[in-house]
Amino acid sequence: MTSSAEPVPGGTGVKEDATVDLATLRTDLLVGGTWRPSSTARRFPVVNPSTGETLTTVADGGVDDAVAAVTAAHTAAAGWATTPPRTRAEILRHAFDLMTRRAEWFATLISLENGKTLDDARSEVAYAAEFFRWYAEEAVRIRGELALAPSGANRMLVDYQPVGVAVLVTPWNFPAAMATRKLAPALAAGCTVVLKPAEETPLTALAVAELLGEAGVPDGVVNVVTTSEPGAVVSALLDAEPTRMLSFTGSTEVGRSLLRTAGDRVLRCAMELGGNAPFIILDDADLDEALEGAMIAKMRNGGQACTAANRFLVQAGVYEEFAQRLTDRLGRLVVGPGTDPRSQCGPLIDERAVAKVERLVDDAVDKGARILTGGRRLDRPGFFYPPTVLVDVPADAAVLHEEVFGPVAPLVRFDDLDTMIATANDTAYGLVSYLYTRDVRRGLALTRRLEAGMVGLNRGLVSDPAAPFGGVKQSGLGREGSHEGLFEYLEAKYIATSW
Ligand code: NAD
Repeated sequence: MTSSAEPVPGGTGVKEDATVDLATLRTDLLVGGTWRPSSTARRFPVVNPSTGETLTTVADGGVDDAVAAVTAAHTAAAGWATTPPRTRAEILRHAFDLMTRRAEWFATLISLENGKTLDDARSEVAYAAEFFRWYAEEAVRIRGELALAPSGANRMLVDYQPVGVAVLVTPWNFPAAMATRKLAPALAAGCTVVLKPAEETPLTALAVAELLGEAGVPDGVVNVVTTSEPGAVVSALLDAEPTRMLSFTGSTEVGRSLLRTAGDRVLRCAMELGGNAPFIILDDADLDEALEGAMIAKMRNGGQACTAANRFLVQAGVYEEFAQRLTDRLGRLVVGPGTDPRSQCGPLIDERAVAKVERLVDDAVDKGARILTGGRRLDRPGFFYPPTVLVDVPADAAVLHEEVFGPVAPLVRFDDLDTMIATANDTAYGLVSYLYTRDVRRGLALTRRLEAGMVGLNRGLVSDPAAPFGGVKQSGLGREGSHEGLFEYLEAKYIATSW
């Protein structure tokens, strides 16, 4: 990989301001430290969701490229696994510094290919970079165990070794953070990787990989295969003999099918899947805080987050006031292109996403829900749907059961806590729940009854690189972030020893 700060042909030039020069972006595959076209010679377009126009094209990797990338990762594996933890830590820390210095550039790039507002993109860059810093700190804290066997006859030693080649598959909604949340712990643990980013947002992933090269990651440790045919390419990545694990973030539907594929080779799997988060407000909640939390939990990325508040369960005493105040706030948001600094809500990712939100709102209205604001797609270029509040949403409305992935807030009224808990848990998902109450003691007791891997108690944002992120039920397997995230990429080796 190049480490030059000078502009290079086909590579990115100066990145220390907000200007993204599309002509100099990396758009080829990264295999074994070399940027090269796809073996298929095909390319596919990357579209700006704010306009519907093509930004550029990227290499359309095929099965041969997948095999080559795993081979490159395998070749680099022994060297990286034996690189001193301190060296790995310093490279990750350098990556943090580079990404932080280029925050505005990355924010603009994310906003261009994903459509999210610049404020959201800036938050994502800060969050994404933080994984490099956090795992720079964790890389030198991999400790084993030593114990006397219960019989007293011998000692038990547990050593931790890198799992080996890891395949990382990421979604489009956080193109930087979902990549660094996997790359940083994998590299800290001593694994080499093949990253397969979402076809909607490959440019950010390629830029992150280039940055890692500049930070000192050796050739072959990080490989990137972009493709418009994820099914075939990911199958080839998982089938390749050296592959030892899959870390996937995306929909439950695709995750379920990848678990079956991975099962054939008994690969270790870390799965971050979909959600259907309830945002619960009790009568005694501080409504000002609940409203602020709701704006973040619902509107971050225009509702396109796995942690997005999918349904609002509001106790009867505050239901009317909350509905009116939320409507007022959402109705006033400025909807516009992500890169326009005035925009407070960007577009959805594509036409399919708009059609899905439209279907869910129409279904709810057909079943008796009322629209307080929004409720109709915007007639303008790009893929826009306005912030929408639905009240009187009946229990059988699809919007309460499917991931909305858009700026729609369906409200449901409840009276007693047992009914609320039953409704909150009435889903196959279990990623996150939000709960607002002034009575923290009661709130903590309720967190035990919520079937979720994470709970925001009087908070509308839970993500933190230092915390274990992940779901229960069909929202996933394993955790990312925190010290736990490192262990996804480490294998315990038990050594029975007599001294
Ligand atoms: P997706 O499942 O469609 O795609 C995710 C990734 O899988 C992409 O890289 C895509 O190219 C790839 N993919 C798609 N079809 C595939 C196939 N048949 N075989 C192999 N790979 C395939 O999801 P998305 O639309 O990109 O992202 C949105 C989803 O991701 C939502 O469900 C959201 O909740 C979830 N998500 C979860 C988390 C989490 O941490 N739990 C975080 C972000 C997003």
